[in-house]
Amino acid sequence: MIPLVDVKAAYLRHRAAIDAAVQDVLESTAFIQGPQLRAFEEAYAAYCGTKHAIGVGSGTAALHLALAAAGVGAGDVVAVPAHTFIATVEPVSWLGARPRFVEIDPETGAMDPVALKGAIDGVSAVLPVDIHGRPADLEQIAAVAADAGVPLIEDAAQAHGAEVVRADGTVVRAGGYGLAGCFSFYPGKNLGAFGDAGAITTNDDAFAATVRRLRDHGRTSKYEHEIIGYAHRMDTLQAAVLSVKLSTLDADNRRRAALMARYEEELTGVGDLWFPPATPDRRSVFHHALVRTSRRDSLLSFLKERGIGAGVHYPIPVHLQPAYAFLGYRRGDLPSTEAWADECLSLPLYPELSDAQLAGVVDAVRAFF
Ligand SMILES: *Cc1c(COP(=O)(O)O)cnc(C)c1O
Repeated sequence: MIPLVDVKAAYLRHRAAIDAAVQDVLESTAFIQGPQLRAFEEAYAAYCGTKHAIGVGSGTAALHLALAAAGVGAGDVVAVPAHTFIATVEPVSWLGARPRFVEIDPETGAMDPVALKGAIDGVSAVLPVDIHGRPADLEQIAAVAADAGVPLIEDAAQAHGAEVVRADGTVVRAGGYGLAGCFSFYPGKNLGAFGDAGAITTNDDAFAATVRRLRDHGRTSKYEHEIIGYAHRMDTLQAAVLSVKLSTLDADNRRRAALMARYEEELTGVGDLWFPPATPDRRSVFHHALVRTSRRDSLLSFLKERGIGAGVHYPIPVHLQPAYAFLGYRRGDLPSTEAWADECLSLPLYPELSDAQLAGVVDAVRAFF
C-alpha cells in the first residue's frame, strides 16, 4: 500500500519534539492565543520574509479575514481561478461579493494574467492561487492589479516556501506578494498541523492590525469590541506543533522536488503522460505530483486496485460546482480549466516516500500504459 500522503510518517519523524511541545501547552493551559502562537507567528513571518504572519483557524478563515480586511463586501466582484479547491471562492460569497472566474494558463494551471487583464473591469480584488505548489504568475498579475488599483490577495495554501525570482534577481517567497498571502496548515499540506490551522502574511502594518482584531471578535480589550469580528483564531496547540515541523520544511520541500524529478525522469514519454513544464522564475514546492493524461479515470482505478493512492485535484472546477450554478457558468466557458479538471492526476508525494515506493508507483504506471 502506498498512500497519496502519509501524515503519520511526518508525526513519527518529529515525535519526541512534538510530544514535548504539546505537553508544554497542556501544562501551561494557555490554549487560546498562548505564547507558542506568537512564537510560531514570528518564525513563520521570518520564513516567508514578510513583516507579519497572523495565525488563524484554517486556510479558509485566512482567505475570509484577508478579503474582509481588504474591504471586500456586498456587491463587489473578486477575480479568481476555477481550477482550485472551493475554499478559495466560498469566503468571497460569505462577504456578499461575487466571484468572476478567470481562465488559467494551460501550461501551469494558474490564473492567466492576460485573461485577468481582459476581465479586470469592475473587479474589487484579485485572488490568484499558487496551485499545486507553484506560485501563480504573480509579477504579471500584480502589475494588472496595480494598474486597476485593486488589492492582490494570494491563495498560497499549497505553496509554503515556494519562490518567485524577480527580474532584478531578488527572490520573493509565497505570501510576500501583494497585500496578503493566505496559508493553510491542513494536515496534508506541505506544512501541516494536527487539525485545522492557517495564517495570513502581510507587509502592511495597518492591515495586520485589522486582521488581528477581526480574527478575535473585533476585540480591542477583553470586553471591548471595536468592530464585528469572527472566531477565527489558531489554537495554541496547533502553533506548537507547527513550530516543530517548520524547522524541516525547507528540507522536506527539497525532498519533494527530488521525488518529482524522479517521476518526471522515469515517466516522461510513457503513454500520453504530460508533466507541467518548469518555470525557472517560479519555483514550485510540489504540493501535488501533478500529471495529465487523457486516460485519467482508468489510470486512477488501475492504481487503486494495486494499493496505490492517487488523487484528483480537482475533478470539478468551481464554476461548474452545483453550489455555484446560480452564477450561470456553463461547460465550455473555461476550456483550459475544464481540460485540467478532466485530465489531472496527483501521484503519491510526501517527504517520507521512499525511493522503493516511488519505483513501485513508476512500475504500476508503466504497466498501465
Ligand atoms: C487547502 C486549501 C484551502 C483551504 O484551507 P483549509 O485549511 O482546509 O481551510 C484553500 N485554498 C487552497 C488552494 C487549498 O488547497
